[in-house]
Amino acid sequence: MSARQSYEPVIGVEIHVQLATATKMFCGCELSFGDPANTHTCPVCLGHPGALPVTNARAVELAILAGHALGCTIAPRSTFHRKNYFYPDLPKAYQISQYDEPVCLGGEFVALTPGGELRVGITRAHLEEDAAKLVHAGPGGRRAGAESSIVDFNRGGTPLLEIVTEPDLHSAEDAVTFFKQLRLTLRQLGVSDCNMEEGSMRADANVSVRPVGSQELGVKTELKNMNSFRFLERAMEAEIDRQIAILEGGGKVTQDTLHYDPDSGTLHPLRSKEEAHDYRYLPEPDLVPVVPDPAWVDRLRAALPELPVDRRRRWMAELGITFEDAEVLSESAELATYFEDLAARVDPKAAANWVRGELRAQLRERDEEPWESRATPERLAGLLELLDARTINVPAAKEVLAELIERGGDAVAIVEAKGLGQITDESELDELVARLIADNPEQAQQLRDGKEKVLGFFVGQAMKATEGRADPKRVGELVRDRAGV
Ligand code: ADP
Ligand code: ZN
Ligand code: MG
Repeated sequence: MSARQSYEPVIGVEIHVQLATATKMFCGCELSFGDPANTHTCPVCLGHPGALPVTNARAVELAILAGHALGCTIAPRSTFHRKNYFYPDLPKAYQISQYDEPVCLGGEFVALTPGGELRVGITRAHLEEDAAKLVHAGPGGRRAGAESSIVDFNRGGTPLLEIVTEPDLHSAEDAVTFFKQLRLTLRQLGVSDCNMEEGSMRADANVSVRPVGSQELGVKTELKNMNSFRFLERAMEAEIDRQIAILEGGGKVTQDTLHYDPDSGTLHPLRSKEEAHDYRYLPEPDLVPVVPDPAWVDRLRAALPELPVDRRRRWMAELGITFEDAEVLSESAELATYFEDLAARVDPKAAANWVRGELRAQLRERDEEPWESRATPERLAGLLELLDARTINVPAAKEVLAELIERGGDAVAIVEAKGLGQITDESELDELVARLIADNPEQAQQLRDGKEKVLGFFVGQAMKATEGRADPKRVGELVRDRAGV
């Protein structure tokens, strides 16, 4: 057994998502990404003495929605604290966050994997405000080696929901699966756009390893600075290997915060505010507790749409489509609706194949999405019916689809106008086959001698002669009959 196999990785994650509100967490400043620096600020988010914060109700609503989707208990009362530390991106010298009374507690998130279900305990989810953004001037744009740093307060005060999981994940791959499905869920609920590159979803991973079979938790490290799933997975893999090597060498893992450097693929200890140990949490005296009306909390739960995981499960069970198809077709709520609409009209498996395959391939060239295409589910269903009835063959169907995408209209009419219908007149096909056999005695003899491949030659000739309008399967049958095979 290799060293790797004798250890079990243990991973718990903390995810910050930026809530999709119009304004900041405690003031009326507009949220913006990419606007000129310091154009969305006010005394509250600049931390001027005497300015009073007011909790954004929409942020609370989105946190409750997320809490419901995560199966959490929504706290009847939650409060804010001041998390104290000094850093230039924090003008008040404290961040308003939730501490011992968060808005959401104790849930579970279920993700689907090809191998089954992945259940991850949710410890808590709490509301807080984001810090401002430091912009480092100088070569490289990084803090190290910068000539000076300036502060852009546009981001300061942005509403965040921090979701903390139990240490229930046991591989980097599972952790990424969890992130992806969580992101899909939060996006579809409109809680956040979860754009990792723009920083509206940030994930920190806590990683430890322990001997297989052990129930005790090992010493963990915390990995930061991963703004893509690829980096996240690589960083966790690298950290699991690093810890195993330390333990195998008789050493001890130290509880560090590590920073992933995507260029070198290595992890470095992080020296920053994160290492300030005592935040001296104090109750925030300027904010009233959050006490949501229970009827409102119930209404939000009742109005929750079907979650992506439930939709996938239902499709697999009721429509008989594969895990992979379900995964791809539920990537967005719009695509899921498109597929469902189509699958209600035709065979769901054919629907899945055509949407995933030809439809997306043709639309990609035009940079269009299925749900905004002229090829509506109704029109595509009309086309798939013709194919199913063998009125047209596959190449013809692709041509009709191109026309539907280009101009819309009706598949039956397009088939007629373009003369794409398959030849259904048996005698016409039979005559053609008889002629082909007479014209190619050598090949006909080979077929009689058992050279099955020659069948393809005859079918090809027939398709050529009919400009693709023959039914290849029927031609094959007729050739066999005529040749006496
Ligand atoms: P801290 O005191 O460092 O903040 P917490 O107990 O609050 O640690 O946990 C923070 C995150 O780390 C949670 O997601 C939790 O599941 C995870 N975690 C805690 N202990 C471990 C461990 N030994 N190995 C892996 N993850 C862990
Ligand atoms: Zn403001
Ligand atoms: Mg903690």
